[in-house]
Amino acid sequence: MVETFENFVNGRWVPSRGAAMLEDENPARRGSRLGLFQSSTPEDVQDAIGAADEAFRAWRRTTVAERQRHVAEFLRQLEASRDELARIVTLENGKTLRESRAEVESALVEGRYHLHQVSAFYGHTGPGAWRDITTWVQYQPLGVVGVISPWNFPMNVMCRKTLPALLTGNTVVFKPASFTPWSGVFMAGLVERAGLPAGVFNCVTGSGSLVGAPLVQDPRVRAVSFTGSTEVGRTIQAQVAATLTRTQLELGGKNALIVMNDADLGEAVEAAVTAGFSNAGQWCTSTSRILLQRGIAASFLEALTARCRRMVVGDGLDAATDMGPVAGPGQYQDVCAAIRQAQADGARLAAGGEAPDAGAPPGYFIRPTVLTDVSPGMAVFREEIFGPVLAVSEFGTLEEALDLANNSAYGLSSSIFTNTLSAARAYIDGIEAGLAHVNVHTGYKEPSMPFGGIKQSGAGLPENSQTGLEFFVDRKAVYVRA
Ligand code: NAP
Ligand code: MG
Repeated sequence: MVETFENFVNGRWVPSRGAAMLEDENPARRGSRLGLFQSSTPEDVQDAIGAADEAFRAWRRTTVAERQRHVAEFLRQLEASRDELARIVTLENGKTLRESRAEVESALVEGRYHLHQVSAFYGHTGPGAWRDITTWVQYQPLGVVGVISPWNFPMNVMCRKTLPALLTGNTVVFKPASFTPWSGVFMAGLVERAGLPAGVFNCVTGSGSLVGAPLVQDPRVRAVSFTGSTEVGRTIQAQVAATLTRTQLELGGKNALIVMNDADLGEAVEAAVTAGFSNAGQWCTSTSRILLQRGIAASFLEALTARCRRMVVGDGLDAATDMGPVAGPGQYQDVCAAIRQAQADGARLAAGGEAPDAGAPPGYFIRPTVLTDVSPGMAVFREEIFGPVLAVSEFGTLEEALDLANNSAYGLSSSIFTNTLSAARAYIDGIEAGLAHVNVHTGYKEPSMPFGGIKQSGAGLPENSQTGLEFFVDRKAVYVRA
């Protein structure tokens, strides 16, 4: 028997008004059914927005301390459910259990950061320019906020957006990705257990077109926080032009790792493996291009490809697995097609490229793949693949490396491995990316630091840090004469 899950609207579990259902597949087992979820309709979205709008009247008047108590209780529920939740993330996304545990841990760390940060989050006051006038900037909640999340971090991204929104006095309608609805619905269950007032948080599952688009376009929704592809980000930006709804868009990347001749090669190879193949290359901050200075290119590649061949690809629940499958059939086809295209364009397959067992693999498995001799004209250099594929190019000088790294529409994360301070400094100044790492892999981040891309990797205020809260408030300029 496959369990059926409902939407969480106005504090109750309710079926969609339509009859259609969404199946959740475990990507390690083709054809499996983890559960049936509501394939909701635009009317369901309207119901949820209506509930959130109604709940906002009371929620906006709660004190920061009251909201902190609710969010602290949510985080306690999350901590108590960490093992159950990590298992669900692995089952429906495919990443290893170790990675799923790290995802839950990251959500807890970020959640606690925002919980404390909001105590010190308020506008400034001033004496005013005229006699008897006092001024202050008052932060106020926006109202209903739409949260749309991707499948690669099905619970962490939801928390990174939802908790700051709630702490600053907004109410939320959340749409999980269709590959990973279970994590989303599970999070709604934690909100219920934490006892938040009805309507403050609502979760509606279903497609981007029938749930996501109506959520973005509804004039009652004051802000949309979205993480996903650049393509859908662009669609959302065009859709909100009519209502001028505020957006926070965390999008795709084509993140470069630069390795200089003087780098610690062992460390650099580990960084390439960690950020290239964790979550099967499906972090937005995954390393996807490797730029090697000519002096170390051959020895780096030898070490990297040997490391790739040793990696165990399999079911994320299996303790021996280093890397799980990609998230679903569409991903699998896209990544395989990108590898074939790269070879047709003249790149050389130095590792991977094939499924772990020839014939019909039991799931959407792709071996850690390295393509060399990649030049900027090739699609594999330019386009986000979002799979376990590293595209390798070589360079002579740091200046050439920066030109290569910046030859991209994207600008999310980046990294350099070097032991020369002046090279590190020149890279930090010259790299076009929202995250710049020196001797650290491209996926590393901390909650007190802004998290977001530049160029076509993002728009609006970054998540985390102070800006993660700032996105969710209006600023009212107050002038008092007395
Ligand atoms: P996606 O296809 O853009 O989907 C993201 C979310 O948007 C899903 O919930 C999707 O629903 C929904 N959606 C689709 N069309 C929509 C529309 N017209 N209006 C509103 N919502 C819509 O991205 P994905 O494949 O899930 O995630 C992978 C992408 O996310 C990669 O490009 C990756 O780089 C990026 N990413 C970025 C960050 C970051 O912080 N910068 C973090 C993680 C991932 P359905 O699932 O129902 O289609
Ligand atoms: Mg799934």
